[in-house]
Amino acid sequence: MSPSKKREACTVPKVRVATTSLAGCFGCHMSFLDMDERIVGLLEHVEFSRSPINDIKHCEPCDIGLIEGALCNADNVHVLKEFRENCKILIAVGACAINGGVPAMRNNFTLAECLEEAFLDEIGVDNPQIPNDVEIPLLLSKVHPIHEVVKVDYYLPGCPPPADAFVKILTDLLEGKEPSLPKDMLHYD
Ligand code: SF4
Repeated sequence: MSPSKKREACTVPKVRVATTSLAGCFGCHMSFLDMDERIVGLLEHVEFSRSPINDIKHCEPCDIGLIEGALCNADNVHVLKEFRENCKILIAVGACAINGGVPAMRNNFTLAECLEEAFLDEIGVDNPQIPNDVEIPLLLSKVHPIHEVVKVDYYLPGCPPPADAFVKILTDLLEGKEPSLPKDMLHYD
């Protein structure tokens, strides 16, 4: 690259990306990191706002927000709304964000049944009591996919989506193209 091109590349502002895990298992983030050394190339064009991979506490104005996980408590809803307010493009990443995923299996039961099973009736529970500290976010009565609360721009399916799919969707967006995943990167398991 010529020196002038290098200067030009240095002055192009980086695309800001934020990521979070709501009611997720961090598996989608692990799959994101599975892009391995390709993340080095990505960092030439991308910088991170709030994400579990850094210490930024709030989502700043961003170009792209990647949301892993469904909505299971009040804090999830708060964080999701913060991302929607600050991200130009919001992507639902993985089965949990898209349709509730495995966490939504609790929708087959009442919240009271789930709490009693986990904290009162489970084998080995000592001193059974349901936690009620005000610091603990209130659980929603049902688990919800994120599109039921905010507008979602794109969906990245899979449990988790493959690393190649993260690379493809981000590359398309960085190039200003409409994201399009080939069939072999589209799966729901
Ligand atoms: S979609 Fe799968 S991998 Fe991603 S957070 Fe949900 S359970 Fe974990």
